[in-house]
Amino acid sequence: MKIGVLGVQGDVREHVEALHKLGVETLIVKLPEQLDMVDGLILPGGESTTMIRILKEMDMDEKLVERINEGLPVFATCAGVILLAKRIENYSQEKLGVLDITVERNAYGRQVESFETFVEIPAVGKDPFRAIFIRAPKIVETGKNVEILATYDYDPVLVKEGNILACTFHPELTDDLRLHRYFLEMVK
Ligand code: GLN
Repeated sequence: MKIGVLGVQGDVREHVEALHKLGVETLIVKLPEQLDMVDGLILPGGESTTMIRILKEMDMDEKLVERINEGLPVFATCAGVILLAKRIENYSQEKLGVLDITVERNAYGRQVESFETFVEIPAVGKDPFRAIFIRAPKIVETGKNVEILATYDYDPVLVKEGNILACTFHPELTDDLRLHRYFLEMVK
Protein backbone atom coordinates (compact mmCIF):
# COMPACT_ATOMS: atom_id res chain seq x y z
CA MET A 1 0.00 0.00 0.00
CA LYS A 2 1.33 3.42 -0.95
CA ILE A 3 -0.27 6.64 0.26
CA GLY A 4 0.27 9.92 -1.55
CA VAL A 5 0.33 13.34 0.03
CA LEU A 6 -0.52 16.10 -2.39
CA GLY A 7 2.68 18.13 -2.44
CA VAL A 8 1.75 21.39 -4.13
CA GLN A 9 1.54 23.54 -0.97
CA GLY A 10 0.76 23.34 2.73
CA ASP A 11 1.72 21.07 5.62
CA VAL A 12 2.83 18.13 3.53
CA ARG A 13 5.70 16.98 5.71
CA GLU A 14 3.57 16.58 8.85
CA HIS A 15 1.25 14.18 7.05
CA VAL A 16 4.18 12.23 5.62
CA GLU A 17 5.61 11.91 9.13
CA ALA A 18 2.28 10.69 10.53
CA LEU A 19 2.13 8.05 7.80
CA HIS A 20 5.72 6.98 8.45
CA LYS A 21 4.91 6.51 12.13
CA LEU A 22 2.24 4.10 10.97
CA GLY A 23 4.80 2.28 8.84
CA VAL A 24 3.25 3.20 5.52
CA GLU A 25 5.06 3.86 2.27
CA THR A 26 4.41 7.40 1.05
CA LEU A 27 4.79 9.44 -2.10
CA ILE A 28 4.67 13.22 -2.30
CA VAL A 29 2.45 13.75 -5.32
CA LYS A 30 3.50 16.67 -7.48
CA LEU A 31 2.71 15.42 -10.97
CA PRO A 32 -0.57 14.23 -12.54
CA GLU A 33 0.83 10.80 -13.43
CA GLN A 34 1.79 10.17 -9.80
CA LEU A 35 -1.93 10.05 -9.00
CA ASP A 36 -1.93 6.61 -10.63
CA MET A 37 0.83 5.35 -8.34
CA VAL A 38 -0.99 5.70 -5.02
CA ASP A 39 -3.74 3.73 -3.28
CA GLY A 40 -4.94 6.70 -1.26
CA LEU A 41 -4.25 10.43 -1.14
CA ILE A 42 -4.06 13.06 1.60
CA LEU A 43 -4.88 16.68 0.75
CA PRO A 44 -3.11 18.76 3.40
CA GLY A 45 -4.05 22.07 4.94
CA GLY A 46 -2.55 25.27 3.63
CA GLU A 47 -4.06 27.89 1.38
CA SER A 48 -6.84 26.62 -0.84
CA THR A 49 -6.60 29.41 -3.44
CA THR A 50 -2.88 28.74 -3.94
CA MET A 51 -3.46 24.99 -4.12
CA ILE A 52 -6.16 25.18 -6.75
CA ARG A 53 -4.09 27.62 -8.80
CA ILE A 54 -1.08 25.29 -8.80
CA LEU A 55 -3.25 22.23 -9.50
CA LYS A 56 -4.59 23.96 -12.58
CA GLU A 57 -1.18 25.17 -13.72
CA MET A 58 0.10 21.61 -13.40
CA ASP A 59 -2.95 20.21 -15.24
CA MET A 60 -3.67 18.09 -12.24
CA ASP A 61 -7.17 19.21 -11.27
CA GLU A 62 -9.12 17.15 -13.81
CA LYS A 63 -7.05 14.05 -13.27
CA LEU A 64 -7.54 14.36 -9.53
CA VAL A 65 -11.31 14.64 -9.90
CA GLU A 66 -11.27 11.64 -12.23
CA ARG A 67 -9.31 9.52 -9.73
CA ILE A 68 -11.60 10.52 -6.86
CA ASN A 69 -14.67 9.69 -8.94
CA GLU A 70 -13.10 6.32 -9.74
CA GLY A 71 -12.98 5.66 -6.00
CA LEU A 72 -9.49 6.74 -4.90
CA PRO A 73 -9.72 7.12 -1.11
CA VAL A 74 -8.96 10.70 -0.11
CA PHE A 75 -8.37 12.28 3.29
CA ALA A 76 -8.69 16.07 3.15
CA THR A 77 -7.74 18.38 6.01
CA CYS A 78 -8.66 22.05 6.33
CA ALA A 79 -7.78 23.77 3.03
CA GLY A 80 -8.08 20.33 1.42
CA VAL A 81 -11.74 20.28 2.46
CA ILE A 82 -12.30 23.63 0.75
CA LEU A 83 -10.72 22.23 -2.42
CA LEU A 84 -13.13 19.29 -2.48
CA ALA A 85 -16.32 21.12 -1.50
CA LYS A 86 -19.11 21.52 -4.02
CA ARG A 87 -20.07 24.91 -2.61
CA ILE A 88 -18.10 27.75 -0.98
CA GLU A 89 -20.45 30.22 0.60
CA ASN A 90 -18.39 33.37 1.02
CA TYR A 91 -15.72 33.32 -1.70
CA SER A 92 -15.93 32.73 -5.41
CA GLN A 93 -12.94 30.57 -6.18
CA GLU A 94 -12.26 27.51 -8.28
CA LYS A 95 -12.74 24.15 -6.61
CA LEU A 96 -12.79 20.47 -7.41
CA GLY A 97 -16.44 20.10 -6.36
CA VAL A 98 -16.60 16.41 -5.45
CA LEU A 99 -17.78 16.49 -1.82
CA ASP A 100 -21.40 17.37 -1.23
CA ILE A 101 -20.93 20.06 1.41
CA THR A 102 -21.08 23.84 1.64
CA VAL A 103 -18.17 25.51 3.44
CA GLU A 104 -17.57 28.97 4.74
CA ARG A 105 -13.90 29.88 4.51
CA ASN A 106 -12.04 31.44 7.43
CA ALA A 107 -15.26 31.13 9.34
CA TYR A 108 -13.83 31.35 12.84
CA GLY A 109 -12.67 34.91 12.29
CA ARG A 110 -9.39 36.69 12.10
CA GLN A 111 -8.71 37.51 15.74
CA VAL A 112 -9.20 33.93 16.73
CA GLU A 113 -7.15 32.55 13.91
CA SER A 114 -6.24 29.42 15.69
CA PHE A 115 -7.63 27.45 18.61
CA GLU A 116 -7.61 24.01 20.09
CA THR A 117 -10.40 21.97 21.53
CA PHE A 118 -11.32 18.35 22.12
CA VAL A 119 -13.90 16.63 19.96
CA GLU A 120 -15.61 13.29 20.36
CA ILE A 121 -15.08 10.94 17.42
CA PRO A 122 -16.85 7.68 18.31
CA ALA A 123 -15.64 6.10 15.05
CA VAL A 124 -12.03 6.15 16.28
CA GLY A 125 -12.56 5.42 19.97
CA LYS A 126 -13.84 6.89 23.16
CA ASP A 127 -10.95 9.19 24.13
CA PRO A 128 -11.59 12.72 22.85
CA PHE A 129 -9.44 13.88 19.95
CA ARG A 130 -7.35 17.05 20.27
CA ALA A 131 -8.47 19.20 17.35
CA ILE A 132 -6.35 22.14 16.20
CA PHE A 133 -8.20 24.67 14.05
CA ILE A 134 -6.10 27.14 12.04
CA ARG A 135 -8.09 29.69 10.06
CA ALA A 136 -10.43 26.80 9.52
CA PRO A 137 -13.44 26.60 7.28
CA LYS A 138 -16.84 25.75 8.70
CA ILE A 139 -18.98 23.08 7.10
CA VAL A 140 -22.35 24.80 7.02
CA GLU A 141 -24.35 22.28 5.03
CA THR A 142 -24.01 18.58 4.21
CA GLY A 143 -25.69 16.59 1.44
CA LYS A 144 -27.79 13.56 2.26
CA ASN A 145 -25.04 11.01 1.61
CA VAL A 146 -22.56 12.77 3.86
CA GLU A 147 -22.01 11.11 7.24
CA ILE A 148 -21.10 13.42 10.11
CA LEU A 149 -18.44 11.72 12.26
CA ALA A 150 -17.71 14.61 14.61
CA THR A 151 -19.03 18.05 15.48
CA TYR A 152 -17.77 21.07 17.34
CA ASP A 153 -20.29 23.57 18.61
CA TYR A 154 -23.00 21.80 16.55
CA ASP A 155 -21.09 22.20 13.28
CA PRO A 156 -19.67 19.16 11.49
CA VAL A 157 -15.86 19.07 11.66
CA LEU A 158 -15.26 15.53 10.37
CA VAL A 159 -17.37 14.07 7.58
CA LYS A 160 -17.30 11.12 5.22
CA GLU A 161 -18.93 10.65 1.86
CA GLY A 162 -18.04 7.35 0.20
CA ASN A 163 -14.30 7.33 -0.44
CA ILE A 164 -13.79 10.86 0.91
CA LEU A 165 -12.89 11.63 4.54
CA ALA A 166 -12.66 15.32 5.38
CA CYS A 167 -11.86 17.24 8.56
CA THR A 168 -11.61 20.96 9.12
CA PHE A 169 -8.91 20.63 11.81
CA HIS A 170 -5.30 19.40 11.70
CA PRO A 171 -4.77 15.86 13.06
CA GLU A 172 -1.25 15.85 11.58
CA LEU A 173 -0.18 18.50 14.10
CA THR A 174 -0.88 16.21 17.05
CA ASP A 175 0.62 12.87 18.05
CA ASP A 176 -2.79 11.25 17.75
CA LEU A 177 -2.63 8.92 14.76
CA ARG A 178 -6.17 7.57 15.04
CA LEU A 179 -7.60 9.49 12.10
CA HIS A 180 -4.71 8.59 9.82
CA ARG A 181 -5.19 4.97 10.91
CA TYR A 182 -8.93 5.23 10.23
CA PHE A 183 -8.13 6.50 6.74
CA LEU A 184 -5.73 3.60 6.13
CA GLU A 185 -8.58 1.23 7.01
CA MET A 186 -10.68 2.95 4.34
CA VAL A 187 -7.87 2.38 1.84
CA LYS A 188 -7.62 -1.32 2.72
N1 GLN B 1 -7.77 29.54 5.50
C1 GLN B 1 -7.24 28.56 4.59
C2 GLN B 1 -7.99 28.58 3.27
O1 GLN B 1 -9.01 29.17 3.18
C3 GLN B 1 -7.30 27.19 5.20
C4 GLN B 1 -6.44 27.14 6.43
C5 GLN B 1 -5.77 25.83 6.70
O2 GLN B 1 -5.70 24.92 5.85
N2 GLN B 1 -5.23 25.70 7.86
O3 GLN B 1 -7.55 28.00 2.33
